[in-house]
Parts: sequence; structure tokens; C-alpha cells
Amino acid sequence: MSGVTVFPVDGASHDAIPAEWRAHTLSDAHRAQLVKLVGEGGVLTAPADRYTYCRDRLPFGTFRLRVGKLPATLPAAIVCPADEAALQAVIAWAVEAQIALIPFGAGSGVLGGTMPLNCEVMVDLKRMNRIVEINEIDGTVTVQAGMNGGQFEAALNARGYTAGHLPQSINMSTVGGWAACRGAGQASSRYGKIEDMVVGLKALLPNAQPLEVRAVARRAVGPSIKDLMVGSEGVFGFITQLTLRMWRLPAHEAGAVLAFPTLQAGFDALREIIQSELRPAVMRLYDEMESHQRTKDIAAFAHKPILCILKFSGLRELAEVEQRLSLAICAAHGGELTDDGPYRHWETTRYQSYSIQWQTGGYYMDTIEVTGTWTGLPHMYAAMSEAVHALHPDIHFGAHWSHIYAEGACQYMTVRLPPMPDDDVALALHRKAWDVVERLCLAHGGSIAHHHGAGLFRNAWLREELNTGMDVLQIIKDGIDPGNLLNPGKLGLRAAPGAIVL
Ligand SMILES: Cc1cc2nc3c(=O)[nH]c(=O)nc-3n(C[C@H](O)[C@H](O)[C@H](O)COP(=O)(O)OP(=O)(O)OC[C@H]3O[C@@H](n4cnc5c(N)ncnc54)[C@H](O)[C@@H]3O)c2cc1C
Repeated sequence: MSGVTVFPVDGASHDAIPAEWRAHTLSDAHRAQLVKLVGEGGVLTAPADRYTYCRDRLPFGTFRLRVGKLPATLPAAIVCPADEAALQAVIAWAVEAQIALIPFGAGSGVLGGTMPLNCEVMVDLKRMNRIVEINEIDGTVTVQAGMNGGQFEAALNARGYTAGHLPQSINMSTVGGWAACRGAGQASSRYGKIEDMVVGLKALLPNAQPLEVRAVARRAVGPSIKDLMVGSEGVFGFITQLTLRMWRLPAHEAGAVLAFPTLQAGFDALREIIQSELRPAVMRLYDEMESHQRTKDIAAFAHKPILCILKFSGLRELAEVEQRLSLAICAAHGGELTDDGPYRHWETTRYQSYSIQWQTGGYYMDTIEVTGTWTGLPHMYAAMSEAVHALHPDIHFGAHWSHIYAEGACQYMTVRLPPMPDDDVALALHRKAWDVVERLCLAHGGSIAHHHGAGLFRNAWLREELNTGMDVLQIIKDGIDPGNLLNPGKLGLRAAPGAIVL
């Protein structure tokens, strides 16, 4: 894009950052107090650092930055506590000073959950990055919330285990961020989502009080406090430690690629597999657009255009039976076993991000994931495809389904607008595409978010999804955070006075 000022994040040239973007940093007195709590190196106030932390991976923020506009505000500072005691002291300081904080894992969230709206102080948790305990008898691992996901999984693999949570963003996210966003990994059909994996946790509430949910298999002591924290996106407290299930690394793994004659045939096959209590580790079904990108050179797809990738894993004998039975179900629905190239390609690129290449090329590329029921999915997909295509002649819309449940599945969509001369027009159109998708999801009985969370960008549709549940969340928020000091304005909750509204 020509004429665009992109502000560098490193070195002396951050002087280019306009004065109004630098305003509202910490007072010297507040900075000195924080340095006492976390050490000199643990408090960042340089404009370049604050610029780096002014957004997560929300595409809207990227679109704004690439034309030289700040997505919202800069954070006043970034604080990096090394342990729970230091974090507790930082929270107590914030309550005393009435300064708002935002928990920050690795900033890979795609809904603006860590975006400062009012010069909040960012609390980066990545120094809290240790595995605390592996309990091989209980099959659990206890880990500090700031540990990098890829390093966590690698450490478990080295001991012969897996957490089974393998998001595409595994190397750029933290374990705490997974829980805070209610995330899902690529093997969710077998191991579940993160909420199925967390058995216990420790957190610090907005008033700095500790909360512990002991790690036990099940309990019957009222509604789940654990689930108040899992998915709370930093508004109800800081998750400091998690105890997760872990599993033995599979002894055997095998992939299969199938071509289906129609999308409906693919839906029917996956539904029957899962409703028959078979649990392939991975089940992925692509619409015609996404299938074509991956199968251009494979003959079977000329007459059966829908791609399905399956992966079976576990004890060899069991996995082989699961494979045989699953493939028989696919065959009954017209699925044809074919070249395993798309499986191998998916395996080798499964942790890579595709958005950046488009976003740096000036495209308005975004992804939206929703949950639909088996009854609703086919109609929901068709209605969304038609409505999004009607917005612009050159819009790209593609979808796949890769988190499969007995009741339905996650529909993961890529929506991409071409580069456009007027950024404001493009941003309005991008938001319109989101609105069309989220409203049609609600109209077809789905949920507006499957695993990316709500953050900031989904605020507009939360009330319709949660109805009076939204009031319950606000009452809880007001009760545990009366000053609205922890990540205000996110998850559809009340923003602070003077906050930027996107
Ligand atoms: C290329 C790409 C691929 C992705 N693929 C997937 C995927 O396959 N599956 C998936 O689920 N997601 C995916 N995501 C989204 C993102 O990676 C997840 O939401 C991830 O869980 C966020 O973790 P994080 O540590 O980066 O959190 P952040 O982005 O730092 O924070 C996200 C939210 O959680 C809060 N938070 C973070 N840590 C804590 C804590 N310890 N306590 C309390 N609140 C906290 C923050 O305040 C914020 O509201 C993808 C993102 C990208 C860019």
C-alpha cells in the first residue's frame, strides 16, 4: 500500500511514533513502585515496547496498523512478574492506585482480548513458564500459566506424554491463554477442548485474593467455579497455574484422505462416525473452494470434489479397528479413499499461519469460527456463503469443519476482501461480513464462537447469544471487580469511562 507510514517497533526510529500515541504512560512514582515489585527489567515503558503490545492478532488491528493508525490506545506500561507472589503484589498495587490491568499471554488471540482501550497496564505472564509437576499415576500435569504451548507439549513429549491440545498457534500461545479463551486443538475430536482437559487451577482474583480449584476428577459442589475461569478472557482474574490431563503418546498413527461426492455426504459420514462412538484423532472436511486449493492434481477430486482428512491414533490394534470401521462408514456415503498427499501436507504445515502473507499483501483477510448443529449446519453454511458473496464481487469465502461432535461441528471460515483503495470502506465491509456471519449463525441455532473466544470484536453479538446470561456475567464482574479494573470492556462487559469504542 503506497503512502503508508508503518511505525517500526525496534531501535531508535520509534521516535516516529506520534506524541499523542505516547501520552498516558505511568507517572514516575507509579513506575518506581512497580519496579520495586518486579525489578527494573520487569517494567517496560519505552514507546517501542508499548507499541508492540498495543494489539494482539485481531486482524482489524493489523489492518489499522498497516495504514499507520493505532487500533485503540497504547498500554501505559508492560509489567512482567516472575512468579505468583509478584503478580499478587502487582494486582494489589493496581487496586490501590485504581489502575486497570490486562492479562497478556502471548498475544496470539484474534479477537482483541488484550487490546488496551484506555491505556491499561499490560501484565505479561510469560516469565511464569515452568512445569510444576508431572503426576504419572493420576495422568496429570501442572503447569504455570505463562508457559509457551509448543515448549509445554515438547516437554511432555520428551517424557512420553501429550496434553492432546494442539492448536495451529501452539508455538505462539501460552497454556494460560488456551484456558482463558476456551481454545481447541486440532485433535479435539479425540481429546476434547481445553475445558475438557483442565482438572484444576489456581488464579488470582481482581482484588488479588487467591482462588484454587483442586485437581480432582469430578465434583458435585454446585456450579463449576473452574468454568467461571476457563473462558473468562482475563475479566474475572489471572489464571496462574493449571492442572491438565495428559495422555500417553500414541503408539500408532495413520492418515487417510477421502474424496466425497457432496458436502452433505461428508457431513453424514463424519456424523455417523462420531455418533458410532468412533474417535479418530483428526477429522477434517473442506468445502469445495478449500478442497480445490488442496487437491488440484488428484484425479479422484475431478468427480468427487469434497476433501476429507482423517487421522487415527492410539494403541495399534484399536486404531486399526477404528480406521477400518470409519472408512467403511465413509464408503457407504460415497467417500473414495485416495492419494494421501493432502494428509501429509496438512501434517507438515499444521502449525503455520496463512493470514500474514495475505495481510501484508494488503488483503482484508480474517477467519471466523462458529458452532452449528448437524441439523443447522448445511443451511447455515449455504446462507452464509450466499450472503457474504453478495457483499462484494471479489470476496473470498471458504470453510472447513475440523472439530467434530456428536451434536454438531465447528465451522471455520476464511473471509478475504481484496486490497481496496479506501481503507475505511474496506473496514466497514469487513465488519459487515462478520455481522452477516454471526447473525446467520444465531438464526440457525449455532454459537457465535467455537474456540477463539469473544475478546472485543464479538461484543456486538454476545447479548443475543447469551441473553440474560449476559446480565449474570455482569453481576459477577461487578461483584468481584467493583472498580472494573481487570480487562474492562471485553467479553461483552461494561467498558471503562473514556475507553475507545471500535
Ligand atoms: C495463526 C493463528 C492460529 C490460531 N489457531 C488456533 C487454534 O487452532 N485453536 C485455538 O483455540 N486458537 C487458535 N488461535 C487463537 C489464539 O492462539 C488462542 O486464542 C490462544 O489460546 C491465545 O493464547 P495467548 O497466550 O496468545 O493469549 P493472549 O492473546 O495473550 O490472550 C487472550 C485472552 O486471554 C487472556 N489471558 C491470557 N492469559 C491469561 C491468564 N493466564 N489468565 C487470565 N487471562 C488470560 C487475555 O487477557 C486475553 O483476553 C490462533 C491464532 C492465530 C494467530
